[in-house]
Amino acid sequence: MKQDFFADIILPLPLGKLYTYSIPEELVERAVPGVRAVVQFGKHKLYTGIIRVVHKEAPEHYTAKPLLEIPDHFPVVTHQQFRLWDWIAEYYLCSTGEIMQAALPSAMKLQSETVLAGAEGADLGLQIHTDEELKILKAVAEKKSIDVAEASKISGLKNPLPLLRRLMDEGLIVPQEEMRDAFMPAKITFVKLTSQSDSDPHFMKEIFERLEKKAPKQLDVLMTLIRLTTDTELPITRSKLIKASGSSAAALNQLVTKGVVEMYEEDENHAYGFARGTSRQVALSEFQMEAYELTEALLKEKKPVLLHGVTSSGKTEIYIRLINDLIGSGKQVLYLLPEIALTTQIIGRLKEHFGDQLLVYHSRLSANERASVYMKVLTDGSEGSYKFPLIIGARSAVFLPFSAPGLIIVDEEHDGSYKQMDPAPRYHGRDVAVMMGNLFDSGVLLGSATPSIESYANAEQNKYALVKISQRFGGIKMPEIEILDLKDAYQKGAVKSNFSFRLSGLIKEALERKEQIILFQNRRGFAPVLECRHCGWIPQCINCDVSLTYHKKSNHLRCHYCGYSTALPGACMACNHTDLRMKGLGTERIEDDVQELFPDAVVQRLDLDTTSTKHAFQRIISGFSNREIDILVGTQMITKGLDFDNVSLVGVLNADHLIGFPDFRAAERSYQLLAQVAGRSGRRFKQGKVLIQAFQVGHPLLKFLVANDYAGFFRYESNEREKFSYPPFVRLIEFRLRHRNEQELNYLSEVFVKKLKSSFGKRVFGPVVPPVGRVRNYYIRTVLLKLEKGLSDKQVKNDIRKLTASFLSIPEHRSVFIQFDVDPM
Ligand code: ADP
Ligand code: ZN
Ligand code: ZN
Repeated sequence: MKQDFFADIILPLPLGKLYTYSIPEELVERAVPGVRAVVQFGKHKLYTGIIRVVHKEAPEHYTAKPLLEIPDHFPVVTHQQFRLWDWIAEYYLCSTGEIMQAALPSAMKLQSETVLAGAEGADLGLQIHTDEELKILKAVAEKKSIDVAEASKISGLKNPLPLLRRLMDEGLIVPQEEMRDAFMPAKITFVKLTSQSDSDPHFMKEIFERLEKKAPKQLDVLMTLIRLTTDTELPITRSKLIKASGSSAAALNQLVTKGVVEMYEEDENHAYGFARGTSRQVALSEFQMEAYELTEALLKEKKPVLLHGVTSSGKTEIYIRLINDLIGSGKQVLYLLPEIALTTQIIGRLKEHFGDQLLVYHSRLSANERASVYMKVLTDGSEGSYKFPLIIGARSAVFLPFSAPGLIIVDEEHDGSYKQMDPAPRYHGRDVAVMMGNLFDSGVLLGSATPSIESYANAEQNKYALVKISQRFGGIKMPEIEILDLKDAYQKGAVKSNFSFRLSGLIKEALERKEQIILFQNRRGFAPVLECRHCGWIPQCINCDVSLTYHKKSNHLRCHYCGYSTALPGACMACNHTDLRMKGLGTERIEDDVQELFPDAVVQRLDLDTTSTKHAFQRIISGFSNREIDILVGTQMITKGLDFDNVSLVGVLNADHLIGFPDFRAAERSYQLLAQVAGRSGRRFKQGKVLIQAFQVGHPLLKFLVANDYAGFFRYESNEREKFSYPPFVRLIEFRLRHRNEQELNYLSEVFVKKLKSSFGKRVFGPVVPPVGRVRNYYIRTVLLKLEKGLSDKQVKNDIRKLTASFLSIPEHRSVFIQFDVDPM
């Protein structure tokens, strides 16, 4: 008798369970755990899922549909990944389907809704295509994009996915995605000799003679270019050339006009195939050497190591040394960075060192390229034979199919962007990395100048090993931090347009010395709110319970939660008075004010609004780095991994709203942000200056900041957390309930809380209306669970799953959405 086989399949949906499909006879051989399977789910929808289990038991309550196709000849999700997925699903209270969604690049999980577009620069070339393929290509060309369902209609194929994958493999179409963040692919500008100067010695000779007499600066640039090109035999970037020649962008531009050199652009966002630079191994300083040797020894003890080194202490050089060691002994290394830092200088340094041994993985790569990195990691051999032993990525890189990394580095481990907020899985990249260390038996190194309270507490309790570097590299002093009391300054009349006389005086001096300045204000827009002087009315978003922010450039009010935007009202909507004024201050306002105070300075702003266009981020950073900009005004974007050597002054316009933010992490975040932004000052040759303006100058964290006393701050903050029962003394789980109807929501939240209390008693807090109580027309209530140490995590999570399922089993309760956030940030 013929034996039937079934597969339990993970679908990329928030489903609580796996679905069983029957395996057609001809696919039985390939149906093993970890391969993809295309299935129909719902009436007409196609999904690409992952086979988790193969067995012989028909489902009890339904007739299994046959799976349609297995595109893989070997598993694309490994046994070890499944173990990690299971751990994440259990710990973060999510489904493996949601994890699959986060883990697999979109190009590997085509489904009915996937929209496909023509690839940039696609060339049909000499490839031969079937009629169906040609129909699809024609439709894509005409309509710019089609979805999989349409592709099915156009080609007449019930399952068009094999055909679409073929076209993707040929690079003709790509899955279209919304840009997930504002940092578009960066182009790098390179400089080279024009073909005339390269091939015509006569022309060159003439140029040299002319420049020598009339334009020595341009001659410097030209000589430097020739020297660098011969030295390194690598393409020379514009910024490197300007730096190395100590000259200006203007001089370089003159050379371009004269036809001596030319500039060209290349996309920085390739994932692999980098050229290695002249990667001389630098000699480590005594402090670095000590830290390096200690770290190396401690990593062998199979405990995560926390490297706490002040800003500019040379942690990156230590990482590079460790990576070198591991690669040398045939091992693989995963290096995690916050997303934004990936656009910046650190990655450039790693490329210089590791070139073609390096894979990069982040959300700005094209969909096809992300899939290609995934497959490269999957098929990249084993210990001793890695082609790409170093993988650098943002948090989602923890989902790549490693065989067994020897070391996982989490750089800037305190950074909040390691936590995924939405959608589920709401995981923390650092904590998953620590878990991976357990699963894979790999070393884990967490690095930061301002560790998270959690990690430092783990180090204090010996769960992590601790290595410290308290000196900056090269004997450079830590910046001198001064706190300026705004209340006092206002009373004395010593403030003009938000700048205390002290701050504007320091800016003036720095400008006179031709040094650069960073001004930090963690709020974008011109002024956060517009207010009626007569009745106090403040314009609100129509979809969210939040006030609108004024953006001067577009002369609009905008919601930072949903993007709603409206023209500036001429009069108060409540009382019709025309006396509206700006309250609060954002980066745009600071930019205006500082320009007014210093009309001759070149001022540039760096925040989400100025970097939303292609290449803008990179352009601003290089501009600042090349000293074309005197004053950079920015949000926390400027704190991530940037290293400028001519910044002598950092000004913080107003530290109060950082410190006073209604959140138990406010002090920690303020300390980290202020210490990091201070660290941008005086990185080379001299001590930098930092001036922090604030009204609440009495907050203890400022005292520790000035003394550069992280350990002191940790003790203070740790005490506070203990007193008020917050992490790391308890574990938190946050429940977020959402509903379109507020009354209904109030009622259902109470019912849910009652249920929670039946299991967790006094550990339940809420429901409360969060600071923004309505977003996109959904009302929100949150409930917090505080769990003391010593409770069984497994038991807790089990109880939560059970009681939520029981709550949702009542039909009237199903109109509410419940989200879980384990260890919320
Ligand atoms: P961190 O990562 O701790 O902020 P970095 O590794 O970026 O510090 O080092 C700060 C600066 O000092 C960088 O410009 C780096 O090139 C330089 N530097 C660090 N260590 C050395 C070394 N051993 N030799 C030469 N330069 C170094
Ligand atoms: Zn009014
Ligand atoms: Zn809104």
